[in-house]
Amino acid sequence: MKAVAVFPEEHALRLVEHREPAILAPGDVVVRVLDVGFCGIDREIASFRTGSPPADSPYLILGHEALGEVVEVGSAVRRIRPGDLVVPTVRRPCRHETCRACRMGRPDFCLSGEYTQRGIKGAHGFLAERFSDDARWLQPVPRELRDVGVLTQPLALAETAIAELEQVQKRLPWAALGETGGSGKRAVVLGAGPVALLGAMALVVRGYKVTIYSHGGRGGHGGHGGRGGHGGRGEKAEFAESLGAQFVRAEEEKLDSLIDRTGRIDVMLEATGATPEALAAMEHLGRNGVYLMTGIPGRRGAFTLDAGNLLHGMVQRNQVIIGPAHPSAEAYRAAIQDLALFSRRWPGALARLISSRMTIDHASEAFRKPASGLKQVVAVAD
Ligand SMILES: [Zn+2]
Ligand SMILES: [Zn+2]
Repeated sequence: MKAVAVFPEEHALRLVEHREPAILAPGDVVVRVLDVGFCGIDREIASFRTGSPPADSPYLILGHEALGEVVEVGSAVRRIRPGDLVVPTVRRPCRHETCRACRMGRPDFCLSGEYTQRGIKGAHGFLAERFSDDARWLQPVPRELRDVGVLTQPLALAETAIAELEQVQKRLPWAALGETGGSGKRAVVLGAGPVALLGAMALVVRGYKVTIYSHGGRGGHGGHGGRGGHGGRGEKAEFAESLGAQFVRAEEEKLDSLIDRTGRIDVMLEATGATPEALAAMEHLGRNGVYLMTGIPGRRGAFTLDAGNLLHGMVQRNQVIIGPAHPSAEAYRAAIQDLALFSRRWPGALARLISSRMTIDHASEAFRKPASGLKQVVAVAD
């Protein structure tokens, strides 16, 4: 079968002929791949800056954001049946007996750091015609989410952060009075890519007043060329407004002035890949505020922040930074539920987050090009 693979030694990326997956254990499932989304991590792997193949393979099959249809299940599989749509999670447990997290089936909290991640680290990904996996790593998706289920993994990143936010905010004295969720609270989402916009939707449905705050002219348009005709406001601004959120371009308004105009910021959701600007924005977080990170900083070299001042302010204002590394299975389930909710609340909105679909034959070249627009998806099968 066809698969798209990166050869780190050769510095090559191409379509390969890979062996067909099979049921090797009673808990296994074979999945026919429908859609695979790609993101910044895939581009880093495709340019050989990160990513590692399985120990016995010269290449790594790409793809960690997938939606597929079950074609075959092992004799012990009950929860999932052929014909079901599923989304696979990404991280798999390490082998250490002493790693409590992995032994409890929670590699999202792996203690040894020797977990594998499908399509990223030590295990093949999903950008192939079929893959197999243990049923416990597959989350069922309702049929009505066929066209947008590929957004589950990026939304799960935001869901993980929001679930941890809710845990942390239970510390506030008024949480016990039944004031839960975001009602009346103000959230600023930093960035305007797929994770940012999905995170904004998740915050809006929880009652937060959301502002999407984005740097760079690219914040205004989903894609370059051929996507005009939306007037001067830009596609992302229009998208934000259709959610009932506000869109502010960082070049047009500083955070100080935004706060003067709209009030204290209770939550910041960073979804820029942790740019220096997004981290510096932390100083504008309000009292008792929470800063949520979904990006991984430090990949673009050193930068300067006034850490002394920043940390002093954080302690004085009773703030918390949360950087959940990896979504749990529960976050995937929350994402699937929320995708259904978003589809009902904003019909057609999720489909607009998918900027292009290409065939598997065209995927290799697309990985090498710079990102354009929102979520690019490889449509492996119909
Ligand atoms: Zn991704
Ligand atoms: Zn572990």
